[in-house]
Amino acid sequence: MADDSIAVVDLDRCQPDRCNYECANFCPPNRTGKDCIVTRGEHYGEDEPYDGGPDQVWISEEICLGESCGICVEKCPFDAIEIINLPSELEDEPVHRYGDNAFALYGLPVPEPGSVTGILGPNGIGKSTAVKMLSGELTPNLGRHDEEANWDAVLDRFRGTELQNYVEKVIEGEVTVARKPQYVDQIPKQFDGNTRELLEATDERGELDHLIERLNVAPVMDQDIDSISGGELQRVALAATLARDVDFYFLDEITPYLDIGQRMTAARLVRELAEDGERSMMVVEHDLAILDLLADTLHVTYGEPGAYGVVTDPKSVRNGINEYLKGYLDNENMRIRPNAITFEEHAPRESVTGRPLFEYPGLEKSYGEGEFSLTVEGGTVYESEVLGIVGPNGIGKSTMAKLFAGQLEPDAGELDFRMDIAYKPQYIDIDRPMRVDAFLASITDQFGSSYWDTEIARPLQLNRIMEQNLTDLSGGERQRVAIAACLSEDADLYLLDEPSAHLDVEQRVQATTAIRRYAENHDATVMVIDHDIYMVDLLADRLMVFDGEPAERGHASPPQEMREGMNDFLADLDVTFRRDERTGRPRINKPDSQLDREQKREGEYYYS
Ligand code: SF4
Repeated sequence: MADDSIAVVDLDRCQPDRCNYECANFCPPNRTGKDCIVTRGEHYGEDEPYDGGPDQVWISEEICLGESCGICVEKCPFDAIEIINLPSELEDEPVHRYGDNAFALYGLPVPEPGSVTGILGPNGIGKSTAVKMLSGELTPNLGRHDEEANWDAVLDRFRGTELQNYVEKVIEGEVTVARKPQYVDQIPKQFDGNTRELLEATDERGELDHLIERLNVAPVMDQDIDSISGGELQRVALAATLARDVDFYFLDEITPYLDIGQRMTAARLVRELAEDGERSMMVVEHDLAILDLLADTLHVTYGEPGAYGVVTDPKSVRNGINEYLKGYLDNENMRIRPNAITFEEHAPRESVTGRPLFEYPGLEKSYGEGEFSLTVEGGTVYESEVLGIVGPNGIGKSTMAKLFAGQLEPDAGELDFRMDIAYKPQYIDIDRPMRVDAFLASITDQFGSSYWDTEIARPLQLNRIMEQNLTDLSGGERQRVAIAACLSEDADLYLLDEPSAHLDVEQRVQATTAIRRYAENHDATVMVIDHDIYMVDLLADRLMVFDGEPAERGHASPPQEMREGMNDFLADLDVTFRRDERTGRPRINKPDSQLDREQKREGEYYYS
């Protein structure tokens, strides 16, 4: 074969007792008498490492004809097989392979003392494997999974590269590590106690009070961890990680559930700790504006989730993000996506084409004994438009949605309509003992139609997870199912709260396309609350801006054109964006830089 191909068999999916080895029966080399696809029992004989279940298949990468054949991939009814031609540019053997016909990782990111290393790429292509190796927990086997792995061989492989020093430290057991997990919602399942108890155990640098203040964690110090919100958990997890005194900090996404102001604070804290001296910070982040602000160097990752992953050599952050968006990696000579992701440099022309869906007057609503009050200025919402909603957390965005849905009565102002609203909340609660396909089929009778498949399932990459239980889904998978469930409802207005959380950049762009297309094809109105400014830019036709004092008072502007809305929103945050000269991509200006001052003077915060 094709010695640049790999065969990957997903053992959780392979069920030969239900398909009678369709793959092996049709494999061309098998039909000429070769042993290309055989059972694992046949392959391993007495050393069989398989766990005694139904005898699943093993594929010979030597004999297989490669991706251009792909007959077994087509024949397998359970999508268990992938045959992938690796990019010919990959010169080395993998750094690690989990076993025969299993996931392979090529390349490793390089932690740099005193700086922040960013990682940009899809979920599921090996970042946790890489971090386990960088922390010394897993010894890279250099692709020789049938031999015992040893660090001396790893050192030989990386001698003379930027990783040599780091590997030497790992071998000497000198690297200490702190990790912030990706899915902060899981923390309450692992920790039983209140915030104070969780944080006090981490105060190794004597900086905890400072972190608590900057991240505004004080209000939840005496609350049980299982009673605080996702945004609060994210800030607590950041404080807990950054309070430690270690050599290597790994932060797996710092932005989910945080508003833009909180994202910028988190980014600055990570930078400050790196600049403090000898510590290495490594951050996986899918909010590109924040990643741009945060990292000194960037590794782009690409591959096929679950099959193989490649970590590039480090790039400058600007080039790394530009190449990623362009879909083409210059040094690697590698196309990672057919189309570029582009941004409008100038505000879209003032255009609202749909008919008005509803008009609403000025509204007021207070909670409790004047604890929180919301003022909504009157406005008009149109059919077929996507309305972006921006502003801090805790400022009354979901209260407004409840007023529109008739679930709350306003104290002042009258609504003479009652919208059917399909709502995807910020914190997704779909944990029930049910498969994804059964759950979605219970929402729409369109489920399974080619129309539903094209509009919803494919852009949201649902087909591979249809047979999984809702309770087994990862954060990104739950998010995609929840977006699909919301868009599948029959409603007048669709309200999606933070659809970007836990989606990687590709998935954000695909979700954006699905949402936009849905609004256009159904004359539907979609309101999207999000804090990823790139996603809001790609998604929204107009903006509604919330401001005020979180948890005290909120104010909602009427829907505005993009330029006006961005200016209104960013002026409140005191942040300006310039445009990357080569690509037109928006980039956050350094505070008080010449451009920052000029743009503020001119009142142009975004479309300068
Ligand atoms: Fe056989 Fe390889 Fe073709 Fe699959 S892709 S049927 S393993 S030759």
